[in-house]
Amino acid sequence: MISIPEFALVALVGISGSGKSTFAERHFAGSVLSADHFRYLVAGDENDQTASSDAFDSLYHVADKRLAARRMTVIDATNVQQHARTAVLTAAKKQHALPVAIVLDVDEDICWERTQARPDRSFGRPVLKRQRRDLRRAIRTLAKEGFRRVFVLSSPEEIDAATVTLEP
Ligand code: ATP
Ligand code: MG
Repeated sequence: MISIPEFALVALVGISGSGKSTFAERHFAGSVLSADHFRYLVAGDENDQTASSDAFDSLYHVADKRLAARRMTVIDATNVQQHARTAVLTAAKKQHALPVAIVLDVDEDICWERTQARPDRSFGRPVLKRQRRDLRRAIRTLAKEGFRRVFVLSSPEEIDAATVTLEP
């Protein structure tokens, strides 16, 4: 069971195809800021990586407003790179929210199969491999980096069985 303090900034952490957006909608609908959605808003294309910087600026602007109003917030982005997680931690700290990480650690082969079946994703396997390597490192350092609670779900079965409760 995943138990999250009511006033938290939650980072989903996982490679593409691990099920972050699916998980976010299932458990946190209405509280999710998705990097893809912000790329779409600023550039008209959720896959336009050249828009990432503007997209994240905008996303964190909204996150800050939400946190200032004490609304728990979930960041739906891969968050496998340390600089991405630093942005999460900085945003949480500024508004005194508790930074939480939920890792979706799904086998790369499964993610690759899913990715190939998606019309909205066209990157190659090396991208996934790189994300996977970054994820391995991330899992080891999340707590040290400052995430106060770290949940690691290590298979699609664990992800499907997970329940989330918000602590009052
Ligand atoms: P990205 O980083 O590319 O946005 P993501 O981590 O958000 O990927 P999703 O879009 O949630 O991944 O899921 C990728 C694909 O895998 C989708 O086609 C989705 O239907 C499928 N999928 C997601 N979660 C599960 C699950 N628990 N079991 C089976 N299929 C799943
Ligand atoms: Mg997604």
